[in-house]
Amino acid sequence: MQETIPILHQRIRACTRCVIAGYLPVAGPVVSGHRDNQVMLIGQAPGLVEEARRVPFQGRSGKLLMRWLARAGYPDESTARRHVYMTAITKCFPGKSAGSSGDRRPSRAEVELCRPWLDQELALLRPAVIVLVGGLAHERFLPGRPLSELVGRVFSSSGKPVSLRTRSRPVLVPLPHPSGASRWLNDPSNRVLVDRALDNLRLLVRAYLPKS
Ligand code: SF4
Repeated sequence: MQETIPILHQRIRACTRCVIAGYLPVAGPVVSGHRDNQVMLIGQAPGLVEEARRVPFQGRSGKLLMRWLARAGYPDESTARRHVYMTAITKCFPGKSAGSSGDRRPSRAEVELCRPWLDQELALLRPAVIVLVGGLAHERFLPGRPLSELVGRVFSSSGKPVSLRTRSRPVLVPLPHPSGASRWLNDPSNRVLVDRALDNLRLLVRAYLPKS
């Protein structure tokens, strides 16, 4: 059978690799998107609410992300969710972090187990713009650089900074994680970088927005 996005989603939603390997008590893969999406957003991993609803970016961080996407040109949440393919480095809720209220960062082994799913999503969709949200996504595509050297810039798929006029595709647009746990966003100079990143994103995605 020929692989398509809906078939791939069925296979991802049935995945239990991390349960079999003993990393998770239960699997609840979350993925959302359509075969015609030109913009892909890659987060870290879903949270508890996302797992319960099986929809990415719910809750507080989802609200901030939707505000960012509105500033990037998506007029409302349903348009953003229809036109932005939303996935993550690992697709199941990793559980809470020991000794804190935040979510556990998925281990390198879990990232490697989940990696083939993201590889297949990228190969099938071939997005023009890839929005990288949070540290694990940055590490996968633009490793070894501090957030302040990523946010506000646009990169080629080989990791070189490029101008907005580049014709090379895909282009990578890093954003910080919208979680309230990120203190990076409290610094006004960092919020300026986010403003710049959203201005860049607005210019890059306008060709892929629905025509009104
Ligand atoms: S995190 Fe990825 S590899 Fe692990 S069970 Fe979920 S979908 Fe499968």
